[in-house]
Order: sequence, then structure tokens, then C-alpha cells
Amino acid sequence: MKTQDFVQLEEKYGAHNYHPLDVVIEKGEGVWVYDVEGKKYLDCLSAYSAINQGHVHPKILAALQEQAAKLTLTSRAFRNNQLPLLYQELAEITGYEMSLPMNSGAEAVETAIKLARKWAYRVKGVKRHNAEIIVADGNFHGRTITIISFSSEKFYKDDFGPLTPGFISVKYGDAEAIDKAITPNTAAVMLEPIQGEAGVIIPPKGYLARVAEICKENNVLFVADEIQTGLGRTGKLFASQHENVRPDMTIVGKALSGGFYPVSAVLADEPVMGLFQPGEHGSTFGGNPLGAAVARAALKVLIEENLAENADKLGTYFMEQLAEIPSLHVKEVRGKGLLIGVELKPEAKGARRFCEALQDRGILAKETHEHIIRFAPPLVITKEIIDEALPKIREVLNMA
Ligand SMILES: *Cc1c(COP(=O)(O)O)cnc(C)c1O
Repeated sequence: MKTQDFVQLEEKYGAHNYHPLDVVIEKGEGVWVYDVEGKKYLDCLSAYSAINQGHVHPKILAALQEQAAKLTLTSRAFRNNQLPLLYQELAEITGYEMSLPMNSGAEAVETAIKLARKWAYRVKGVKRHNAEIIVADGNFHGRTITIISFSSEKFYKDDFGPLTPGFISVKYGDAEAIDKAITPNTAAVMLEPIQGEAGVIIPPKGYLARVAEICKENNVLFVADEIQTGLGRTGKLFASQHENVRPDMTIVGKALSGGFYPVSAVLADEPVMGLFQPGEHGSTFGGNPLGAAVARAALKVLIEENLAENADKLGTYFMEQLAEIPSLHVKEVRGKGLLIGVELKPEAKGARRFCEALQDRGILAKETHEHIIRFAPPLVITKEIIDEALPKIREVLNMA
């Protein structure tokens, strides 16, 4: 079967909730993927940063195979011998006392919201059902009904009401707007340290530190969604660490499994995480031994291979090189570590055609919003591979 055969099947039988590039991938290895016609591409999306460790990392694969042959699912009705070790390793690596495992990122965000509300009622003393959570315009936290309820993207929510109340959205990057929005009912402020889906939006220097301070002064929890920015992507374990911020809760997902399996988690200390009582929250698959074994291996690879350091070094280099490309189309190159956005001018007629031209040249990148190309390769990339890609990117950015 050829590319077009797969595309046709997908269009006919699958829901059309994505608009993918017409490349049908059948194999991946490190930074490379191969399509059904045998063509090789440099993956510059990394499944929205789930593949920080590279495609099919041999050590994570071995952990998956070994655990899959032994035990995959017990449900949390019983204990398994992988989850406690994941808990311990997460605590050692992240510095948070406790964690709660889920599967998708959206589920972990929902978990953090439940926890923030419970904290507001049980610890802060907010009147029941009155808790408010402050979020930022342009946010992306997932696709459940509650999460889209506070999206500023009309298209994500307009046909899906009634929406969940209890959220207030303020301008991203403006700490004083958060200060003004806080009321006695505010449970939490929830932010992405860098807004990935909004187009790699980097807040002004000092923003996160100031927000953390405002939260502390007002007895409000600070929740960081690091599902995309975390686990090495921006050059540190967590993007919050660029400003020495330690949020009350940090949400991780995506690269927590190196792309093998959906594993997410909420990280917090005992005074917050300790609030959940048996039965108040759960998931059949959350914390299963297969996911736990995979996550343990994925974390180990991240640390053993110094992937955050590599993202820092090579991200700086890649961004400098991209910024030096003379192009009439480029408005701005920005990013942190290996999370890089190239924003095109409105006259460039959209990022999609540039992504298609990159695809022709063996580079897979995806437009985000209309005018931004995101470059976020696996963190195992080398300088040589970046140097090979640059002339092709240069050519594309200078298309007519
Ligand atoms: C991808 C993402 C999510 C949602 O994760 P899913 O696994 O797709 O549910 C939430 N927040 C951020 C910042 C993300 O990038």
C-alpha cells in the first residue's frame, strides 16, 4: 500500500479531528522516522515533545518488553511492584514529595484541578463550589470539556457547551493581571511556563517568579503545566527552573514515557497531594505496572544521557543558526532549549506550505496556528544533524 491508500482509508473511516501532513510513518529510530515509501525524515515535532528520548529508544523498549511479558495491569485495587519505585524515583528526580499517576496529559490536568479545588475547600476555607482558578489567555491544557471551558480558542469550545464554570482567564505574561484577578475564592493559578500550542510564546523575564510570589502572598496554589515544556525540553528538567520557581504542583506527561505509552502525573508535596482520600479520584490504567516500568526507564534515559543539557546546548545553537537565516518571510525566531518557534509574517501566506516544503526535503515540522513553524526535535539530536538540516530549512524559508 502506498501513502495515498492509507490517506484515503483514514479520510473515509476515521474522524476528521486532525489535519495531518500526508506522510504515513511506519518506523522510527532516534531523531529519524521512515514513511511507507521508505523515505527518511528528521522529526522536528517529536509528537509534541513526547519523544524527547528519541523514537523507540532501545532501553525504554527493553523495559516495555520485559514488563509486558510479566505483568501489565492490576488496577489500583491491588498493588504492583513497579509503581512504588516510580513514585520514589520521581520524588528523587523532581524534588516533589509525592505524585499521582494518570495516563493522558488532560487527565493529569483534570487531576490538578480537582486537587486545587479540594485544597481551597479543605485548607484555605473557600465556600464549597465557589473556588476559582486563574488561567492565561492562549492556554492549551488538553481537550476535555472542563479544560476547553477555559480555552480562549473559540473553535475548541463553541460547539461543546455547556461549559464548566470556575475559571478566569487573564493576559499571559502579565503578572499584575493575575494579582488583580485574585479574590478570596481563588484556589490556584495554572500556567504553562512557555505556551507551546499557542506558538512557543515566551513570557517576559521574571514573569513566573513574580507569579509564584503573588501566589504565595495571597495563599493561592501555583500550578505549572509542564506536559510539553518539562522533562528536559527547554534545557532544564522543568522550564519553571529557569526562574528558580518551584510550583506547588507540576503536571507532567508526554515524554514521561518517551512516547511508548500514555503516562502522566501530578507532582506535589504532602500538604497538597495528601488531601486525596481513597475513592475520590482514580483511573483503571493510571499507575499500571507497564506504564510505571516504561516511565522509570524513560526518566533514567533522560538523566543518563544528559538530555536537558543537550537541549540547552543544541537549542541555543539551532536557534542562533535559524535566526541568522536571511528571509523575507520570517518575523521572529524564539524559543528555549529545543522548543523553538519560527513566526512568519502574515504576508508569507501561512506556515502550512512551508511545512509541506520541509516535508519534501525530509524534515517533518508542523505549523502551529497559522503563521508559526515549531522546531522541536528529539533531545538526542546532534550538532551534525542540525547542520545537515539547516541548508534545507534555509532554502524553504526563502521560497517565493
Ligand atoms: C499535550 C498537552 C496537554 C494534553 O496532553 P494529552 O496527553 O494530549 O491529553 C496538556 N497541556 C500541555 C501544555 C500540552 O502540551
